[in-house]
Amino acid sequence: MTETTFKAYRVDAPKQPAELVTSNRDELTGGDLLVRVTHSSLNYKDGLAILGKPGVVRSFPMTCGIDLAGEVVEGGGDFAEGDQVVLTGAELSETKPGGYSQYQRIESDSVVATPAGLGPWGAMAVGTGGLTAMLCVLRLEAAGVTPEDGPILVTGATGGVGSFAVSTLARLGYEVHAATGKDSEHQYLTDLGASEIIARDELSGDPRPLAKERWAAAVDSVGGTTLANVLSQIRYGGAVAACGLAGGHGLPATVMPFILRNVALLGVDSVHAPLEARKQAWSRLDELFSEEDLRAVAVDAAFTDLPELSEKILSGGIRGRVVIDVA
Ligand code: NDP
Repeated sequence: MTETTFKAYRVDAPKQPAELVTSNRDELTGGDLLVRVTHSSLNYKDGLAILGKPGVVRSFPMTCGIDLAGEVVEGGGDFAEGDQVVLTGAELSETKPGGYSQYQRIESDSVVATPAGLGPWGAMAVGTGGLTAMLCVLRLEAAGVTPEDGPILVTGATGGVGSFAVSTLARLGYEVHAATGKDSEHQYLTDLGASEIIARDELSGDPRPLAKERWAAAVDSVGGTTLANVLSQIRYGGAVAACGLAGGHGLPATVMPFILRNVALLGVDSVHAPLEARKQAWSRLDELFSEEDLRAVAVDAAFTDLPELSEKILSGGIRGRVVIDVA
């Protein structure tokens, strides 16, 4: 390591926004691997943490950024100097210092080697959002859902998770229906592979216990009333992978879809996903997407854009994914 000082976004106390500070290597205490971070990404949780909102950072001071990709400077575990690595979730920016830092110490036991085809930029174009979408797909596959079963719904479709779910499922041969509140983004969703667009309002009304059977399965990043409406319209024997709460953390549903239609509700968490599940998800993502493909869902941003982008993601103004140039 040549540089002794570097830049990082750090939040010092509850309710305070993060500040861009100069740090140095002796202050890094996170884990056995020292990494030169080249790229990170922007997720809803990052917006909350950067702006000092509650719900993400659990110990202070804390370096923000739930995702990182970079090159190992000091090896540890299975990794040696010069290896390219990726880490998402794993309590980064919650209890462990995160990826909005040009150098970081991380624990090697949750780290994966950067997928060769994706590279560090592509891995952060995927980031937590894309990884979570793939973890949802893996859960649906494990529940026996196949493209032959019928159409599959993605809610919050223009979001980070939603965009990846649409694109991934379309590439796997599913007929994808995309639910969105953004009238201006129908073409974007069609280009990602959606064959039908569902207006968000259709899933926002008071949910009935059971409604007409419509979809074989769903990936839901919205929760709340939307998830209740989705459950009521899943076909007999279908499944829903639920990973988010963009529309609320409640679930005003009944047990009817479970006990009368054999519907399965599958929870998905990416933060503590076991290493084997992470490896499997990254390997599938590497097979399905090239770096070039990901230009359709991800845009670049500078490190210093983070405060402005955080406001934007919290107000629902971001489409797809944002890769942060940290180096
Ligand atoms: P984004 O902000 O990128 O996307 C969320 C999308 O949900 C929006 O783009 C919008 O899509 C839709 N949406 C927003 N507000 C509402 C609302 N009030 N009602 C209905 N739809 C709404 O976030 P991410 O994709 O990064 O994350 C989505 C959710 O998943 C978040 O709740 C996040 O916390 C969670 N998450 C969970 C993870 C896990 O490990 N379980 C990991 C990653 C994320 P549109 O305009 O197209 O309708």
